[in-house]
Amino acid sequence: MLRMDGFDYVAARDPGEAVRLWHAQPDTAYIAGGTDLLPNLKHRFVQATTLVGIADALPRGWARVGGDYEIGAGTRLAELATLQALAPVAQAAGLVASPQLRNMGTLGGNVLLDTRCLFLNQSDFWRKSLGYCLKAEGTWCHVVGGPKTCVATQSSDTVPALMVMGARIRLLGPAGQRELDLNDLFKFNGMDHLKLSAGELLTHVVVPEPAPNFRGSYDKVRTRGSIDFPQLGVAVGLHLAGPGADAPVEALRIVIGAVSPQPKALPGLEAFVGAPLTDAAIEAIAEIAHARTRPQGSVHGDPAWRRHMARVTVARALRRLRDGTEADA
Ligand SMILES: Cc1cc2nc3c(=O)[nH]c(=O)nc-3n(C[C@H](O)[C@H](O)[C@H](O)COP(=O)(O)OP(=O)(O)OC[C@H]3O[C@@H](n4cnc5c(N)ncnc54)[C@H](O)[C@@H]3O)c2cc1C
Ligand code: SF4
Repeated sequence: MLRMDGFDYVAARDPGEAVRLWHAQPDTAYIAGGTDLLPNLKHRFVQATTLVGIADALPRGWARVGGDYEIGAGTRLAELATLQALAPVAQAAGLVASPQLRNMGTLGGNVLLDTRCLFLNQSDFWRKSLGYCLKAEGTWCHVVGGPKTCVATQSSDTVPALMVMGARIRLLGPAGQRELDLNDLFKFNGMDHLKLSAGELLTHVVVPEPAPNFRGSYDKVRTRGSIDFPQLGVAVGLHLAGPGADAPVEALRIVIGAVSPQPKALPGLEAFVGAPLTDAAIEAIAEIAHARTRPQGSVHGDPAWRRHMARVTVARALRRLRDGTEADA
């Protein structure tokens, strides 16, 4: 059994109080559902002496405001999985972990969860026997084989889906509120992958309402469908000019997640706008996915196989969305 060190706990009643409490003590962390933070505290690569409880302080549920869906960061993943108007996001939320974890885990915690690595998400005893690693207490990355770069993986399922839908995040800090394009949140640095100021609180995720002919999906590659983190996540957002499979493409976004510290949109997809999504076009897009996906060995699964699966998964998703067919069970 892994034991945690002791910590103080204070529950915030609203977002403003949460930010004040965070800044009132050193070595503080927010805790929402705790499904990512508590294992990391047990593994002792995250240290905190005070936890500020935010599960009841954050907005929960969603509202349509203007042309946007404003989703509270305290929304549980199980709730988000019912938001069919944002199909890729609902699919992604419904594929996170297991029912118990989706009942506890929040959207905010899913967007901001720590990066993961085979050499990091282990007990202190295990990590010590390896001399620790660059991300926590050590000087060497066992994945890269060097002293400079950490490639621990950003493994959120909802993030790629939110990115293809053009989501923004709303943050609250001591200086007030700001909004950030979700595309701009992540850095290619597994030790420090979020462009946030210390103690900033995520309060909302804002997603533009999809256009009438929008078709989108999220596919997850993992070993055990019942609980595992993704070894690859593929989100596709496709706008066609009409309801038919041969309607020209108006916009196309594809985001690949769970391969590095930074989920990334595939470049070069503008070339496919204005023409129907033919089988040849799908093959060409799948080829871009293969060329641009460079999985790091920080999570389970052979990187070359995960790269191959990027090609396969993108092609399958595009055919399915174009033809209006269901995903394989
Ligand atoms: C066995 C297991 C399997 C899992 N499988 C998956 C999976 O398949 N896919 C997946 O995406 N995740 C998975 N997870 C991780 C986790 O359950 C989810 O990511 C969950 O959504 C995290 O949300 P939470 O509210 O529990 O976050 P917490 O653990 O409470 O917080 C996570 C991090 O975000 C910070 N934080 C949380 N909310 C905010 C906020 N509003 N503002 C600022 N900072 C905040 C916390 O300080 C902490 O650093 C798994 C976890 C376990 C234990
Ligand atoms: S990628 Fe390297 S430095 Fe980062 S957590 Fe894994 S072993 Fe540690």
